[in-house]
Amino acid sequence: MYPRRRMPIARTAMLVGATSHVARNSARQENMAAENAYYRDQARQQEMQQQAQMQAQMQAQQQQQMLAQQQAQQAQQAQQQALQAQQQAAANEEAIRRGIAQHEEERRRLEQQNQQPPPYQGQNYGPPPGQNYGPPPGQNYGPPPPQNYGTPSPQPNNAQAVMTCDQCKSSNQVTSLFCSNCGNKLAH
Ligand SMILES: [Zn+2]
Repeated sequence: MYPRRRMPIARTAMLVGATSHVARNSARQENMAAENAYYRDQARQQEMQQQAQMQAQMQAQQQQQMLAQQQAQQAQQAQQQALQAQQQAAANEEAIRRGIAQHEEERRRLEQQNQQPPPYQGQNYGPPPGQNYGPPPGQNYGPPPPQNYGTPSPQPNNAQAVMTCDQCKSSNQVTSLFCSNCGNKLAH
């Protein structure tokens, strides 16, 4: 901003040949003023540089603080999200557990309505699948099937086996004493 001034040596040299004492004095004063201005400028530039440095440092610090704040916020957000996810998972688990309980309750209610014993869900004391403790196929340890050795002997003749009631004419067994229909005493 402020261009550096050169040390005003050249000007002094120009005035060396001057005879006027006044002119020499004037030149010396001018020289001193220029020198002063030079040092003032330098001091001002240094000050400005220092200010610029301080400003840069402050900006860097502010940026670091902002970055730290952002990171802290992000960490907090991540923590909150994790917490929410955890709560959501717990809620889901609870919902599933409640659903299963409701389903179980409904099942019991239906079973009671049907008056059926609940299905046994534990162990099964029957033979394990694939094993059969019965007789092997093709062998039978039970009683032999009834055998037929020919036609059974014919029953006694109907005329002999049947006694006709005198009163109602219904047929009765020979061994009967009374008619099964009317109760009349059968004549033997
Ligand atoms: Zn009869």
